[in-house]
Amino acid sequence: MLTNSLVELDRQHLVHPVSSFRGHEARGVRVLRSAKGATVTDTEGRELLDGFAGLWCVNAGYGHESVVEAAADQMRKLPYATGYFDLGAEAPIRLAAELAERSPGDLNHIYFSLGGSDAVDSTIRFIRYYWHAKGQPQRDQFISVEQGYHGSTSMAAGLTALPGFHEGFGIPYQWQHKISSHYAYRNPAQSAEEIVAASVAELRAKVSEIGEDKVAAFYVEPIQGSGGILVPPKGWMKAMRDVCAELEILFVADEVITAFGRTGPLFACEDEGIVPDLMTTAKGLTSGYVPMGAVFMRNHVYETIADGAGAKAVGHGFTYSAHPVSAAVALEVLYLYEGGLLENGRKAGARLMAGLETLRDHPLVGDVRGRGMLAAVELVTDKEKKTPLPASVQPATRLFDRAWEQGLIVRSFPQGIFGYAPPLCCTEAEIDAIVERTRTVLDQTL
Ligand code: PLP
Repeated sequence: MLTNSLVELDRQHLVHPVSSFRGHEARGVRVLRSAKGATVTDTEGRELLDGFAGLWCVNAGYGHESVVEAAADQMRKLPYATGYFDLGAEAPIRLAAELAERSPGDLNHIYFSLGGSDAVDSTIRFIRYYWHAKGQPQRDQFISVEQGYHGSTSMAAGLTALPGFHEGFGIPYQWQHKISSHYAYRNPAQSAEEIVAASVAELRAKVSEIGEDKVAAFYVEPIQGSGGILVPPKGWMKAMRDVCAELEILFVADEVITAFGRTGPLFACEDEGIVPDLMTTAKGLTSGYVPMGAVFMRNHVYETIADGAGAKAVGHGFTYSAHPVSAAVALEVLYLYEGGLLENGRKAGARLMAGLETLRDHPLVGDVRGRGMLAAVELVTDKEKKTPLPASVQPATRLFDRAWEQGLIVRSFPQGIFGYAPPLCCTEAEIDAIVERTRTVLDQTL
């Protein structure tokens, strides 16, 4: 009864993010009621193993009382403090300091946003300001990578290179350019070295085409997430970073998915030993308990902006920048990561990858890829030809439904890719269940 009325109210009033409005009206919402560890429960009492950590964000897992306490304490003490008027609160100051200490290189200056999209938007604004301050305001062109996702706010959506975020919105904009993705599985003729060399050549060519003195920045995800969990070959990030340094273009690592243990270390840039000029994070920063994102800037970026502005205010910021409750949550979550969750995630990630590898013998499995607790299984009907699943299978909805019936939540991408990003707290038995339930779904899909 309760569920029925909620489904109807949802249909009538709640606009869902990134959904087919009509498709959703027809299917109806599945309402979740509670969660603990890696398990969520719906309003009908069905328990599901959350193999996607909500939207790849609940890295710490659900139900940590200490996180709830941290938020409640902060709300009791000081629920809000603006950062305007030279004011501030303890939690965001401490959080910025803790993150600066752990971030790669001299990414020492941190601006807190509300999530990932507005973190990316903020980098675009800060980068424009940086080039103005350097006396090069003509550097207003941005480059990103096909299949990339950088958010859906007005500016970030232009860096996003997934057609569904452009069609009907008048995007991309004139100042946003793309180079091809490294997508190794669908680049069959190329070795890892060739893929790296091709991307380097393409980035150089794109910069010359736009004009070397016009390019402001190049954006990458250490692993492309929403484009289908595409893992670049080893050395790809480093090579792209080096080209940007040589051409004096700012290099931005969008770690909204990959930071906070998702690939193993706290930041995926550590996997390749690189220091980006700017870095964005969100999701795992607060493990999804409350909204927050963060822009990390290297010293030279911050100093240039600061010198450029002088006594003037840098006109960028939100009412809820550096929200104290979010910061208190993020501090507690950071403590949990370092108190064992990162370590557990590394072990669970190795088990997940090994488990998913065993699915390679399945007739429908074309590719298995990933790093740490971020993985994908790409389905095909013909392994030789790498033929994607036909649209009649409706990969995004039918496969999701079948996994749900098995008590598993995984992301099902429209092109027939299962995406995995379980909470770092998963036990061995939970990881094994994710793999086994996937095999059952694949058998049913044959
Ligand atoms: N950047 C990347 C790499 C993302 O994966 C996402 C979201 O999935 C975003 C930015 C946008 O973050 P948000 O949804 O918090 O606005």
